[in-house]
Amino acid sequence: MRLKSLILLFLLFPISAHAPQKELRWGFFGHQLINRLAVFTLPPEMFGFYKHHIRYLTENAVNPDKRRYIVKTEAPCHYIDLDIYGDSAVYKMPRYWKKAVEKYTEDTLMTYGIVPWHIEKMKYRLVKAFANQDVLNILRLSADLGHYIGDANVPLHTTENYNGQKTNQIGIHGFWESRLPELFSENYDLFVGQAQFIPNTQLRAWEAVTNAHLAMDSVLRFEKLLTAQFDSDKKYGFETRNRITTKTYSYQFSSRYHDALDGQVERQMRRSIKMVGDFWLTCWVEAGQPDLSPMLKKGFQPAELDSFKQEQDSLQIADSVRIKSREHEH
Ligand SMILES: [Zn+2]
Repeated sequence: MRLKSLILLFLLFPISAHAPQKELRWGFFGHQLINRLAVFTLPPEMFGFYKHHIRYLTENAVNPDKRRYIVKTEAPCHYIDLDIYGDSAVYKMPRYWKKAVEKYTEDTLMTYGIVPWHIEKMKYRLVKAFANQDVLNILRLSADLGHYIGDANVPLHTTENYNGQKTNQIGIHGFWESRLPELFSENYDLFVGQAQFIPNTQLRAWEAVTNAHLAMDSVLRFEKLLTAQFDSDKKYGFETRNRITTKTYSYQFSSRYHDALDGQVERQMRRSIKMVGDFWLTCWVEAGQPDLSPMLKKGFQPAELDSFKQEQDSLQIADSVRIKSREHEH
């Protein structure tokens, strides 16, 4: 465990629950933390390369969310509404894309989300990028894969009632995945050990979705139970950040809810970090463990840098325009 490096990293990039955020969408915080910490699970053969690019991997952990505003097919890649497929769907759904299409049609799957299959698709692309020693795509796909894996571990990304809109709990999506980690992750133990090879990545993606889905019941139930004990003026409060005041769940309510969940957010975050590291490692192994050190020295061609810049610009625009898409927070 590279404890020293991790401590150094925190010194260089302090992450504090009270650190000023660039923007108010705090879900970004979780994704960035997951990608950043996954780097420290990697074996020495990969660590140098990933550490060198840690800033890119962190800052671009949220590209897929920005892309949802310009790419129509992007949104379903972030979730799967398992409950629309009936009771025990989490156990009964076909694990492999082809079988799932045969059973439900591609249209239906795209309507209700495809995150476990999309993770597998990204995995294949990353294996290919490693095999081709394509640095740009290794970075892009590693950052993206980290994002989708993070999403697959969020309980509310596995249900049609993704924002509590069906149970009068609107706002719970951002509450669980943004406000809670931002307030409390400072005290989480996010050391998850060394990355390990995954024999079957498609089943591993499903395992994550299944765990997340089984955790969903407590996410909704505890919020409901606690709401019954709180006056609404105590449940919510106002906070000012960057001179913008917003209504949000009060610290007291957040803290009680976080206690009731008994480490759930921390557990899901640990699972995400471990899984991202495991996937990156597995892709590299399946590509034949290419030597990454020459790639570090190579630098980028002007055309590659151009394409990087164009991508960043279009995401920037997408982020500010935000063409109406499903309000699936992250
Ligand atoms: Zn997302």
